[in-house]
Amino acid sequence: MITYETWDIEQKPTFPIDNNEKGALHVLSWAYDHYGDDLLYACSFGIEGIVLIDLISQVRDDAEIVFLDTHLHFSETYETIERVKQAYPRLRIHLQTPSLSLAEQEKQFGAELWKRDPNKCCELRKIIPLRQAMTGKKAWISGLRREQSPTRQHVEFINLDKKFQNIKVCPLIHWTWKDVWRYVHRHNLSYNPLHDRGYPSIGCAPCTAPAYTEEDLRSGRWAGLGKTECGLHES
Ligand code: SF4
Repeated sequence: MITYETWDIEQKPTFPIDNNEKGALHVLSWAYDHYGDDLLYACSFGIEGIVLIDLISQVRDDAEIVFLDTHLHFSETYETIERVKQAYPRLRIHLQTPSLSLAEQEKQFGAELWKRDPNKCCELRKIIPLRQAMTGKKAWISGLRREQSPTRQHVEFINLDKKFQNIKVCPLIHWTWKDVWRYVHRHNLSYNPLHDRGYPSIGCAPCTAPAYTEEDLRSGRWAGLGKTECGLHES
């Protein structure tokens, strides 16, 4: 098995990149065969997440999926999760919450930590909870696409994740923004309505604004704070 401990770049599998899913179904089939229940999908329920859930359900209809519930998400995001749960009742979708409530965080670190120290806020409300959710897992799935931002251009299908000391599987690396939406519309998938209101990338409400440019679809995340990633994807 390919794990953090046994990682050998020469032994990484290769996958055919077909026209429709651009390798995603091949990667997912391999990953669920290889890791079984030791594989977790950490889903943000953005538009890439909607695509991945549909693809995953074709490979493993009772897959385990976690959403990092910071308690700071838009109501539209929580409603989207409920609709997805109804559409895929066999998937094991659960919400992972931080150990600190918002009131406890405010008491320890002051009000609106996300404005003063977003890295600390993301660590408390996303990174530590994901680490907890991944306890005992050999690998996790992420919806990263190379096109999304300059920091994601070198992501591979199978990656060594030094931060979480496991393997990160990224089936959508070759998908374009148009590929994602073509799939969503072709399969008539329900998605977060904020995407239709100028939010291509959706995270916590205090840190998400409509995108500034079509060139950088993540430009509405932590706008003005000099931060582009929550820290989950920094190896
Ligand atoms: S995205 Fe913003 S509100 Fe959410 S955990 Fe990170 S800093 Fe905090």
